[in-house]
Amino acid sequence: MSNDSPADPRPITEARLLAMINASGDSFWETDVDRRFVHISDNMCRMMGYPREQLRGRSVLEFMTPEYGAEVVRQAQARASEDMPLAHVGPIRHEGEFFRQDGARIWIETVSVPVFDDDGRHIGYFGITREATERKRAELALVAANRQLEVQLRRIQELHEQMREHAIRDDLTGLHNRRHFVAVAEQELERARSHGASLALVMVDIDHFKDVNDTHGHPTGDVALKAFGAMLGAATQPGDLACRLGGEEFCVLLVGTGHEAAVSRAEGWRSTLAQMVIPVDGTALRLTASFGVATFPEHAGTLVELMKVADTRMYSAKDLGRDRVVGDGVA
Ligand code: GH3
Ligand code: MG
Ligand code: MG
Repeated sequence: MSNDSPADPRPITEARLLAMINASGDSFWETDVDRRFVHISDNMCRMMGYPREQLRGRSVLEFMTPEYGAEVVRQAQARASEDMPLAHVGPIRHEGEFFRQDGARIWIETVSVPVFDDDGRHIGYFGITREATERKRAELALVAANRQLEVQLRRIQELHEQMREHAIRDDLTGLHNRRHFVAVAEQELERARSHGASLALVMVDIDHFKDVNDTHGHPTGDVALKAFGAMLGAATQPGDLACRLGGEEFCVLLVGTGHEAAVSRAEGWRSTLAQMVIPVDGTALRLTASFGVATFPEHAGTLVELMKVADTRMYSAKDLGRDRVVGDGVA
């Protein structure tokens, strides 16, 4: 020490250092290489609820929850496997749950550094620990709230999807409704027009359906309509659009289909229906239907015209004795 330097009016003594440490509010500690407590500050003793003499010599890991202890050991092993000299390891940060003397679990956050003796030998760790229970609780509550929000959001999306689906479906048969049919058919017609593609429309009306209601009652009529809708729905292929226009009238749009193929598909549905037996009230109900087929661009240039031509042909099928398909050449 130089003699000319003025005497420090307040030399840093151990007592003053300890006073500073305790005034900080944080907890200070030092361990040996096996993580056994060597020095423990007053705040650390208070936070853990133990008198100093009951902490000295005991491993830090003893007071950690098994998960926290495992994490600390895992971090140490990871550092060792990186083969990094401890002297080059920066501050080590971790957080986890600690058991207080009264059994309560508290969250703590810790920053520690390895300690070396004058010969550079690793002799332990020195660390600062702070209670983080409130912050951690708030964080966990936020995570739980976010998770809850995500669940609600998914539910809203599902409901939205259900509502959207509901808006385009016919309640009784589950086929598309007229509004959706018209909207999609207009788009498909526009696409067919710009690509020079063909598109067919099949109009269907169940034969003598009034008799079904009159004989078996309206609820049985509903069962028959559902059965017919299910048959039509099952017979559609990707690109087809089947819809219940209303009452016992249905129609199917066949995208990219020419006239002959459309008549043939309608003929298939007609014959399936004619052979179908619908069991209601212990009796076997049978149905037939009349079909009219019109194709873009040969028979009509707009959706309204296409529906009109197909409708006229469907009525021709009725006039010709029902249970038949009428396309080009008959109407
Ligand atoms: P056609 O062979 O000439 O088509 O004879 P039709 O009896 O089928 O013709 P019409 O149009 O006179 O009768 C249709 C019947 O469909 C009348 C109506 O009560 C019935 N109907 C319409 N909507 C429903 C429904 O949602 N449920 C039931 N059960 N019947 C319905
Ligand atoms: Mg009708
Ligand atoms: Mg009818």
